[in-house]
Amino acid sequence: MNKMKGLVCKECKKAYPAEAIHVCEFCFGPLEVAYNYDAIRSVISKEKIQQGPKSLWRYKDLLPIEGEPTAGLNAGFTPMIHAKNLGRILGLDRLYLKNDTVNCLTLSFKDRVVAVALTRAKELGFDTVACASTGNLANSVSAHAAESGLRCFVFIPSDLEAGKILGNLVYKPNVVAVEGNYDDVNRLCSEVAGEYPWAFVNINIRPYYSEGSKTLAYETMEYLDWQAPDHVVVPIASGSLLTKIYKGFHEFESLGLVGPVVTKIHGAQAEGCSPVAEAFKEKRDFIKPVKPKTIAKSLAIGNPADGFYAVKVARESGGLIESVSDEAVVQGMMLLAQKEGIFAETAGGVTIAVLKKLAEQGVFKRDESVVAYITGNGLKTQEAIAPSVGAPWLIQPSLMSFQEALKKSDALKEEGDR
Ligand SMILES: *Cc1c(COP(=O)(O)O)cnc(C)c1O
Repeated sequence: MNKMKGLVCKECKKAYPAEAIHVCEFCFGPLEVAYNYDAIRSVISKEKIQQGPKSLWRYKDLLPIEGEPTAGLNAGFTPMIHAKNLGRILGLDRLYLKNDTVNCLTLSFKDRVVAVALTRAKELGFDTVACASTGNLANSVSAHAAESGLRCFVFIPSDLEAGKILGNLVYKPNVVAVEGNYDDVNRLCSEVAGEYPWAFVNINIRPYYSEGSKTLAYETMEYLDWQAPDHVVVPIASGSLLTKIYKGFHEFESLGLVGPVVTKIHGAQAEGCSPVAEAFKEKRDFIKPVKPKTIAKSLAIGNPADGFYAVKVARESGGLIESVSDEAVVQGMMLLAQKEGIFAETAGGVTIAVLKKLAEQGVFKRDESVVAYITGNGLKTQEAIAPSVGAPWLIQPSLMSFQEALKKSDALKEEGDR
């Protein structure tokens, strides 16, 4: 079966072969993978998916590779939890959290896109992989390149969190820290990609890379007994993830794996970098680039490549795109940790804060199913939350010292309240 027909321009629909290209040479629109859905329909089934590997590769029939996967064999298939504590606070009986903070290999949703991108890059014969990254992508490309024995260059803004910089260096790729923001890094990488025959996973390999995000939608529906949820809340950086979650729901619908999809797709940004939320609110169909200034560095893209499409998807699905302050982001991180035990990075704080804002606006009905995507791990963005978490009690190694500290604390009072 040849499931991939090739690439097609999202705007003018001109067809291209499935190579390492990403822009239409006629209208400059983005290229997308075109599938042979009739062929896919004849081989895919719920049973076949259920018998597949416990990774995103159980959906291999809907991913843009020709042979067998060769990178990220354990990516995806992350836990989904019924968040009863948080749900009680927000007035939601069916709140679910998709926990990509424990994705494999590098604790963010980017392991999904990199699994697909690197498998495809190898199929296309590349021996060097690269990326422009806000942090998590660089971590994932570095790890998977190391595992695959590929040469690797990652380009990052120089002011990233320490955990994200170290999370590259440990794999020994070539780490290029650029004195500028992500949009500067991305512009530079487009030039570098023109000079060197490398697989830039989010530039010339982007049509394949972005498809990996669809697996978050597939896993959601499979978990919900083959149903799409009523609402999802998705963090937005370039906007790719949000558009691909929408695509994933509708692919399952058109393949007959789920019934009619009415999922409202809501987007989440930080106020300090909210060009997509602003375009949505002002009912514009173009993005006005901004200069990012937020603690949610993984989402800090001022000129998002898929921003226009993200606005369109939110609108068409009946969803909203909201933004929240950095203070609300920190509160969102704390709320998620303290109610559900998940230590997410700043992007997770953005998602939870927007979820809360939408719940307070009455966007969800109590019995509707709502899924929030928690896309990165809090251990990588410790700087953002360190000033808010307090400090441990410092005591001498004696019972008396402990009891003195206990007396000074609120813990005894709580003990009495029990
Ligand atoms: C990259 C990233 C996203 C979203 O990325 P898109 O560019 O919108 O696809 C969300 N959360 C985290 C933690 C990320 O690293």
